[in-house]
Amino acid sequence: MKPEECEILIVGGGPAGLSVASTLPDDLPVILVHQDREIGLPVRTSGGSWLDEVQRLGIPEEFYLPIRQSDAYTGGIGVTINLGPHVPVILHTERLYKWLASLSDHKARALWLGCKFTATRKESDGRFLSTIRTRDGSLRQVRSRYIVDASGWHAAVLASLGLAEKPGRLGVGIEYEYPLGRNRPDRALIFVGDEVPSGYGWGFPTADGKFRLGVGLITPDTRASPRKVLEALLETDIERRFGLDLSGEPTTHGGILPSVPFEGRMLFGNVIRVGDSANFATPTVGEGIRVCIEFGRLLGEALGRTARTGRRWPLRRYEWRVRRALQIDYALGFVVNRRGATFTQAHWDRMVERLGRIDPDAVAAILKSEFPPGKILRMGWHTLVAHGRARLRRLRGRLAR
Ligand SMILES: Cc1cc2nc3c(=O)[nH]c(=O)nc-3n(C[C@H](O)[C@H](O)[C@H](O)COP(=O)(O)OP(=O)(O)OC[C@H]3O[C@@H](n4cnc5c(N)ncnc54)[C@H](O)[C@@H]3O)c2cc1C
Repeated sequence: MKPEECEILIVGGGPAGLSVASTLPDDLPVILVHQDREIGLPVRTSGGSWLDEVQRLGIPEEFYLPIRQSDAYTGGIGVTINLGPHVPVILHTERLYKWLASLSDHKARALWLGCKFTATRKESDGRFLSTIRTRDGSLRQVRSRYIVDASGWHAAVLASLGLAEKPGRLGVGIEYEYPLGRNRPDRALIFVGDEVPSGYGWGFPTADGKFRLGVGLITPDTRASPRKVLEALLETDIERRFGLDLSGEPTTHGGILPSVPFEGRMLFGNVIRVGDSANFATPTVGEGIRVCIEFGRLLGEALGRTARTGRRWPLRRYEWRVRRALQIDYALGFVVNRRGATFTQAHWDRMVERLGRIDPDAVAAILKSEFPPGKILRMGWHTLVAHGRARLRRLRGRLAR
């Protein structure tokens, strides 16, 4: 079998891999292998993000839907979250990913769909010989100088070289997609508590006129099956409690992402990781798409320079910029993640009740896993004030009785 030759092999056609390809030099020979038959399908993600972030990344408006009201529920409590100027959006991931892929259509990039990377080995000249299995079972080989591991939680390349283990703690999600029906086209909700052990649930409209209801659980913190948890919820009166219309036959999506501490190493010689294979999704709510696009583009630029000049510093700078942006915030976010996974119903009741009152910047910062010192101080202050006010109200209530 004669191998295909290229400079860079990208494994995985999600937002990370596609973004790397989009900023590599036009004439650099690149092969991108993607195990699914189509970019963006099947859907394995929800697509929640933020208006300011997607605008900053230059994502066209047609690929997202702004959300004007966000509600949070737990047990019997429901509040509207004040997000102030922070506007959540729901990305249309299938269209967005296809658009990301189209940004490389004019380049020397070959897109191999329905092709799964299975293994690689380093040859004596330092290049990699990788084996790719097609959907009909036949094998192809690719020889490349660099490999980008953008295979998501699989970390397929690093695992095949024994450089990283698959994550031992995972967020596992499932979503049912309904017709929009009478659901508001600009309202999203999250729900927490005993009904979704070690995780949370969500409901939101989509940019193409549907409504999705989902749950994500952290395993092995809970052994509950996300599907059973969602089915059990649907047996209750959630339509009334959450103000939803869940009529019509739903279609199902499911996905997995790592839920382990962030680790700052991106470079393994000429194998570089990006996206969920490097644990880029935020530890608080698992929002990864914008992070993958931002740092995927950065890696494409850096790798282009390194491939042209043979100098390593652009790649080292990529690694440094990822660490600088994520390491501290994600360490703190992971503390929130671990703590949240052990919350009881009483904890969630208190938390959701407070959510309606906390400073909007603090809520957005927690959801985005951003914890700069100034914001932490402000969060602490606002929490103290909210706590003090609640105690005062309880005291007044007791005195009045
Ligand atoms: C249930 C769920 C809900 C989520 N909700 C949100 C959200 O609301 N907002 C948000 O921003 N993020 C969300 N995320 C996280 C987000 O989806 C990820 O952070 C993001 O998709 C990671 O992008 P990626 O390109 O690194 O990996 P992926 O999107 O996983 O893409 C990698 C691709 O590589 C392919 N692949 C894997 N192995 C191989 C192989 N051996 N050979 C060839 N191809 C391979 C896979 O088929 C996959 O399509 C959610 C994740 C899950 C699981």
